[in-house]
Amino acid sequence: MGREPHPPYQRPPLSKRYLVGDLARSAVFFPAPDAELRLGTEVVEIDPDRHQVCLDTGERLGYGRLLLTPGARPRRLAGHEDQLYLRELDDADRLRARLDAGTALHIVGAGFIGCEVAAGARSRGLEVVVYELLEQPLLRVLGAEVGAWLAEVHRSHGVDLRTGLSALPALPPETLVAVGSEPNQELAAAAGIRCQAGIVVDELGRTSVPDVYAAGDCTRFWSPLYETAIRVEHFQTAIRHGEATGRSIAGQGRPFAEAPWFWSDQYDLNLQYVGGGLPWDATLVRGRLGQPPFTVLYLLEGRPVAAVGVNDGRTIGQLRRLIEARVEVDPEQLADPATDLRRLVPPR
Ligand SMILES: Cc1cc2nc3c(=O)[nH]c(=O)nc-3n(C[C@H](O)[C@H](O)[C@H](O)COP(=O)(O)OP(=O)(O)OC[C@H]3O[C@@H](n4cnc5c(N)ncnc54)[C@H](O)[C@@H]3O)c2cc1C
Repeated sequence: MGREPHPPYQRPPLSKRYLVGDLARSAVFFPAPDAELRLGTEVVEIDPDRHQVCLDTGERLGYGRLLLTPGARPRRLAGHEDQLYLRELDDADRLRARLDAGTALHIVGAGFIGCEVAAGARSRGLEVVVYELLEQPLLRVLGAEVGAWLAEVHRSHGVDLRTGLSALPALPPETLVAVGSEPNQELAAAAGIRCQAGIVVDELGRTSVPDVYAAGDCTRFWSPLYETAIRVEHFQTAIRHGEATGRSIAGQGRPFAEAPWFWSDQYDLNLQYVGGGLPWDATLVRGRLGQPPFTVLYLLEGRPVAAVGVNDGRTIGQLRRLIEARVEVDPEQLADPATDLRRLVPPR
């Protein structure tokens, strides 16, 4: 059951190639799943005692096991609910029409979506103004060094990036607000399922209620890798988490211990991040910061816990295995681009 009228589609192109008209609409859809799809259908209630869900049509359906994947929604900015937000295909179509209008685009938030749309709008020749309360774009995930470099990248491409603001100015109509997202957990919470900034699931995707599972952006899942519960909003992780939870539902579950991974395309740069977005106490640079390809590693107590690579996808792929192996590594070896990272991963 899916509330949107469209067959399942990929969201990442909505702020990238689809937005600027480089990708056909038909290319954003997933291959048709081998399942009965009930589109334009909202689940409005879960009744775990009767093992039933209630639809907006009033219909009640019984389940043996139930998987919740309601995803997330953009955080609305109080007083700016009528502005543009970007999550769904219809939102992207509205924003495309806005780009076609050709007048200056204002964006609140220099997170991934704000930065990608800024880059896309610049490629279409629009004037772009971005407002960010923090000192740098993506400061919380990538830290001050990478944030400062990225700010410079956007400014050098002509974005009027205004950071470290204490308050937002009056915004023109049709400003894009991209200030993060919130998990769609209300349906689960109303059914008595434990939620805490996300639907809480264990490493097998099980919620606090028998026979109800959850996966993807809506969850806060227990990560055996980081030994804490994390909420992740990445395309590939949502897919892998969904697959793992599907196996778990089928009785073949194995703990989901992967390091989350995502990418972002801005101008001619491909950023790839691996990690749980958790605190770190040191960073080191492999290559030279600001001169792609390079990678910045985030360490906690000597162990790499996350990394961001710029036009350096191969390194990120190797670091991912190193992070998952949870080993302490000599920082000099890590920082040296000549070191073959594959050799540092202990055999399983
Ligand atoms: C513009 C944009 C760009 C992105 N770019 C990247 C990227 O470059 N790299 C990356 O890794 N990730 C990216 N992401 C994140 C990625 O798209 C998400 O992590 C992924 O979509 C999560 O999948 P999901 O199935 O958990 O949730 P969703 O994709 O949100 O799907 C949930 C679906 O459930 C429906 N639903 C909700 N409640 C109900 C209900 N009660 N009844 C029926 N249906 C319901 C929703 O309408 C929605 O269709 C991007 C996201 C956006 C919005």
